[in-house]
Amino acid sequence: MNFYVMTLFPEMITSGLNVSIIGKAMEKGTIGIDAVNIRDFSDNKHNHVDDYPYGGGAGMVMQAEPVYRAYNHIKEKINKDKKTRVVYMTPQGKVFNQEMAKELAKEEDIIFLCGHYEGIDERVLEEIVTDNVSIGDYVLTGGEMPAMIMIDAISRLVPSVLHNDESAEFESFEDNLLEYPQYTRPVIWKNKKVPDVLLSGHHLNIEKWRREQSIKRTFERRPDLLLEAVKNFSKKDNIYLEKLKNNE
Ligand code: SAM
Repeated sequence: MNFYVMTLFPEMITSGLNVSIIGKAMEKGTIGIDAVNIRDFSDNKHNHVDDYPYGGGAGMVMQAEPVYRAYNHIKEKINKDKKTRVVYMTPQGKVFNQEMAKELAKEEDIIFLCGHYEGIDERVLEEIVTDNVSIGDYVLTGGEMPAMIMIDAISRLVPSVLHNDESAEFESFEDNLLEYPQYTRPVIWKNKKVPDVLLSGHHLNIEKWRREQSIKRTFERRPDLLLEAVKNFSKKDNIYLEKLKNNE
């Protein structure tokens, strides 16, 4: 899978993602990350890519033409027969979540567009963007960190990026539930013991305990997720949830 990132700060993308699991996946060639500097496509000798907003107001706006040229440069490298998704990172977009990560992980190529300053001239956004995506209801200085967050979340769903393919399967947000608590050695730490059931070796009991803990966590921390989660609940899950609601 190939990620192309249009940015004014390519070093942020390459240095931020070139480590750990994503760095290894890049080394193996499972994923490719190409950070394209929009400034290289400036049409003036000072390499300016921004200008004052029409109508006045604070800050600068990134100009349409350098962004459009950077986009065409990337398009030339990509299979021309395919329609490539172009994701503009913006606080005005749909909020990114695991479901969106799964959907995007099916793509072969994705182009990200990172804004800076007050944003980007609307006309080029209308021309090239297919998806407006936000990482949350707050405003950051640039789209680089949001793009990195999306690339990280999407990449770990690409087969063979994670060592054990199962580890992406039983995680938070699967079935709209949060993951159960995890423990590792030692058995006792600061007088706190690992729950007995996890030391029992009894797989069915462990599975039951984990399922209940997932439901409990979600009930306590993200009750909003339960609205969807209950659609896939078994009879036992429903009984357990009722007990939680009744404080039993
Ligand atoms: N003036 C814009 C507005 O009010 O919607 C905000 C511009 S922001 C200071 C600069 C850039 O940061 C944006 O163009 C976008 O690429 C990125 N950005 C800021 N917050 C973001 C968020 N929550 N999610 C995704 N991208 C964000």
